[in-house]
Amino acid sequence: MLLKEIKNIFHKELDAIYSKEEVASFFYLLIEHYLGLQRFVLAIQPDLIISKEEEQPLFEALSQLRLERPIQYIIGTAHFMEMDFGVTENVLIPRPETEELVQWVIEEYHTDGRNHGDVKKKQDEEVRILDIGTGSGCIAIALAKNLPHIKVTALDVSSEALMVAKQNAIDNDVNVTFVQADMLQLEDLGDKFDCIVSNPPYVRMLEKKEMQRNVTEHEPDLALFVSDENPLVFYKAICRFAKKNLKKSGSLYLEINQYLAKETEQLLKDHNFSEIELRKDMFGNNRMLRGVFSGR
Ligand code: GLN
Repeated sequence: MLLKEIKNIFHKELDAIYSKEEVASFFYLLIEHYLGLQRFVLAIQPDLIISKEEEQPLFEALSQLRLERPIQYIIGTAHFMEMDFGVTENVLIPRPETEELVQWVIEEYHTDGRNHGDVKKKQDEEVRILDIGTGSGCIAIALAKNLPHIKVTALDVSSEALMVAKQNAIDNDVNVTFVQADMLQLEDLGDKFDCIVSNPPYVRMLEKKEMQRNVTEHEPDLALFVSDENPLVFYKAICRFAKKNLKKSGSLYLEINQYLAKETEQLLKDHNFSEIELRKDMFGNNRMLRGVFSGR
């Protein structure tokens, strides 16, 4: 079949569910992934013919896109911080908002002198960062890649997620220590950390109806949802853990629920964090908090 005919079928079948631009970008991602073709191929070879065998994965992907399965799960990769991460349905697909959180941590720990507080003095010492609820490992691995002088530890409750994360660390050629642990029952890890970063589950059930089907039907509930009654349960556990395992003047970076910014900020204050800063994400939502631990 002609490649351009396949493209037309994609539009015919999918334009009712997605925008035309989205359908085109899915199509180009798929021909790149499965056939190694670049997106300008149709401009150069408008009558390119694709064999039956080559067609097959494209049509399989089409039927999954019809079910609103995210393209990242279909091709098994997501892009984050200019790196590729393997993803399965056991891990959340890395989000662009989370890149902004990672950038913020890099700003502090980059050794170009823009560091705040005591961090600058610590350049010769080992700096330790812990990522709680690592999922695909995207935060931990992007930090390890961009801050090679730092020792990164990452934990998750899900052994399936940890398998994905470990493979991603290997594929991206970084060293991260992975630990399987439930953040609600964190023991003293023995190590004192200079920085804790986390993107825990924070979507309340009452917010579920605002979400798109591709998220609610395909991404892991375990990584997304919290009860309406106790939506800060993971933040409380992280603060309790920080009390024992975060160094004085160490920092905490959190991705947060945009509707609970005030409450989350108060929680940090109640746990002896100061210099609290709230940042909005690229979509204009209150999405990240940073606090500096004043000690017990
Ligand atoms: N930002 C994600 C979403 O809206 C949620 C991530 C999370 O719960 N940590 O889909």
